Amino acid sequence: MKASKSLKIAALLVALAIVLPLGGQGCGNSGGLLSGLLSGLVNLGGGGGLGGAIGTGGGFGPGSPENTGSIPGPGAGTAPPSGVNARQPPQVGTDAGAQELQQKHGIAIRGAYTQTDVQNTLMCAQQYRPEETNGVEIEFSSGRSGSGVLGMWSGGRIEIYGEDIDVILHELSHHITLTGSNRSSSTADQVIAAARQAGGGQIPSSCITRDYATTDEAEFIAEFLTGLAGLERGVPLTFTIQNGYFNPPESVRQVARQIYVSPTAS
Ligand SMILES: [Zn+2]
Repeated sequence: MKASKSLKIAALLVALAIVLPLGGQGCGNSGGLLSGLLSGLVNLGGGGGLGGAIGTGGGFGPGSPENTGSIPGPGAGTAPPSGVNARQPPQVGTDAGAQELQQKHGIAIRGAYTQTDVQNTLMCAQQYRPEETNGVEIEFSSGRSGSGVLGMWSGGRIEIYGEDIDVILHELSHHITLTGSNRSSSTADQVIAAARQAGGGQIPSSCITRDYATTDEAEFIAEFLTGLAGLERGVPLTFTIQNGYFNPPESVRQVARQIYVSPTAS
């Protein structure tokens, strides 16, 4: 199947790293959104345009020094660098949450995380099956940002530079759908096929969260799962849904719900 093949290609291309740029948070740029969507739809529909687009949104290439230079070494308590975005060290109460992440979901968190980060990560982890989150390592940067590159997924490792829960869920969604041994990797193909069918051959704007979702199929799926979790699973997103028309058809939602844990019936 073409969609399946395309996704596999996408998975190969992004195997090294996937970055999540902010892309117009706060908006004021909604006038250009739909035209951007339309041009992006062509790329998604044709299966081309996968190469080159990955990681360009934030201005940094995957794995470039800019992406990795500010990551502290493993372990909490690393002294944060000076600067307005320097974070507080982990607070009292984070240990239990970190333990739950490790024991129930197989997720190890490191770096300069706060209690809010732990709670957000727990909520994201609870969306997916433990056997599919197992082995993920999440590093929270000490220098957090609200713009530029907000997160990165690379195999079993996630780096978080942003503040919002959106970033954690987006990167975790990459892990769920791009890890070949996860059953969700094949379900992701079915989501794309269902979306194309709903749109008469092209993914309709009702399935697009924002411009960034049109980057390639891997980003489309990560954005779709994040956005749908915001719509019907109570995840308090802050910036993912920028397209006011994001409202996926039931036929596509039904397929996607197989990826979340305990699929909702209504
Ligand atoms: Zn991404």
